[in-house]
Amino acid sequence: MDSVAEIVAAVKEGGTTAGAVAHSVGGQLGTPEVQQLNATLDWSQGVLDGDAARADAAETPGPLAGVPIAIKDNIVTIEQPTTCASRILQGYRSPYDATVVNRLRAAGALVGIKTNLDEFAMGSSTEHSAFGRVLNPLDHDRVPGGSSGGSAALVAAGVVPAALGSETGGSVRQPASFCGIVGVKPGYGRVSRFGLVAFGSSLDCISVFGRTVADAASVLQVISGPDPHDATTVSAPAVAAPAHRQDLSGITIGLPKECFPADLDPGIRAACDRTVGILRDLGAEVRDVSLPHTRYAVATYYVINPAEASANLARYDGVRYGLRRGDGADVRALYRATRGAGFGAEVKRRIIIGTYVLSAGYYDAYYTKAQQVRELIAGDFDRLFHEEGISYLFTPTTPTVAFRAGERTDDPVQMYLADIFVASVSLAGLPALSMPIGRSGGLPVGGHLIGPHLGETGLLETAAVLERAVPATEEALP
Ligand code: GLN
Repeated sequence: MDSVAEIVAAVKEGGTTAGAVAHSVGGQLGTPEVQQLNATLDWSQGVLDGDAARADAAETPGPLAGVPIAIKDNIVTIEQPTTCASRILQGYRSPYDATVVNRLRAAGALVGIKTNLDEFAMGSSTEHSAFGRVLNPLDHDRVPGGSSGGSAALVAAGVVPAALGSETGGSVRQPASFCGIVGVKPGYGRVSRFGLVAFGSSLDCISVFGRTVADAASVLQVISGPDPHDATTVSAPAVAAPAHRQDLSGITIGLPKECFPADLDPGIRAACDRTVGILRDLGAEVRDVSLPHTRYAVATYYVINPAEASANLARYDGVRYGLRRGDGADVRALYRATRGAGFGAEVKRRIIIGTYVLSAGYYDAYYTKAQQVRELIAGDFDRLFHEEGISYLFTPTTPTVAFRAGERTDDPVQMYLADIFVASVSLAGLPALSMPIGRSGGLPVGGHLIGPHLGETGLLETAAVLERAVPATEEALP
């Protein structure tokens, strides 16, 4: 698969057509190697061809002309089902397309591929899908990360150059790290949530995977910017195209000591140390800094997230959407039967935790407290970016490389700890990205760059400089 820029250039210059790209992607999706990954929940040659015909007929080719972009299946589409990888949405069809889908199509992209995920985006391994786990294309015994594992796997397997995922607390950065690709989470409100199935409404951000920083950047430019359908979108213009930078002179990178604990996996540490050396060689000033409230991030996230999830998931009652169990004579029995049969174990766990922390007797002890700590966590970042002269922060994306399938499914806390370096950024609503920085035991290691509010373009520029300098071939890596 060519890069986004290569496909667009070829379509513009007449070297290929969007129709030919649609045909070739359909061919790849149908191969046993790709099918085996279980990365898609639905894909439609008809939709791909329809989008391609529109792109080929356009008078001026759009900025994503002919580019196939897979969509996580918690983003709604009219022409294809939206399942959130849950049985409870069985048979559901959205009456409208998400804003991001409209924007991708208007830019000439092909969007007929819906990808597998952890049920309702709850998880860090894509093992919580009601339709089976997704395989990591680099090692089939391992997970691709989650919750946007299907999108990550399709990009890593080279089927599409870019894909959409969603982030509530790391669900694009963490799988990008596990699959050796780029994952960019914009700041909260930079991309419309209209048509993203609500999970944690104060955290949710549609985010982008690319094989390279440039691939991800070109998609983010198209989908970002204010949307009258989502009142929480920031009133700043869309993310601007990153400019080419020679080096990183004038940039100060902070290394939060809390993200490099003494017991950090040695392979992850080695890749990070080497990257810090590269950042210095590129002219950046590198400084040790502190994010003192980081250690509360996972606990805080796993109070706020279930609280919001429990409220958002109350709408799946057997009346309005998808699955219905029971005859409706007794409405409570209908709710119980539908929700009991429709939701998987992790979703039920979040609803129970969320309902508990929001209950009258515990609200102040858990939910209010978590909101207070969230403020402290955001304040840590504010201080570094606005008072201490830090341009960007660098940390590992994940504490380990991709773990084996089944290894953490029986221990939710171990699963939650995969989010230890990414959750605080989601709580603070900041932009961040993960990019490949090496390998450990043959598996990809992700480096995590965090930026200030509205700092997406600068973050992408910095990442592109680093990407050029990190040895690309496996042999050159530690
Ligand atoms: N691991 C996080 C969770 O389970 C990821 C959620 C997300 O970003 N969608 O909540």
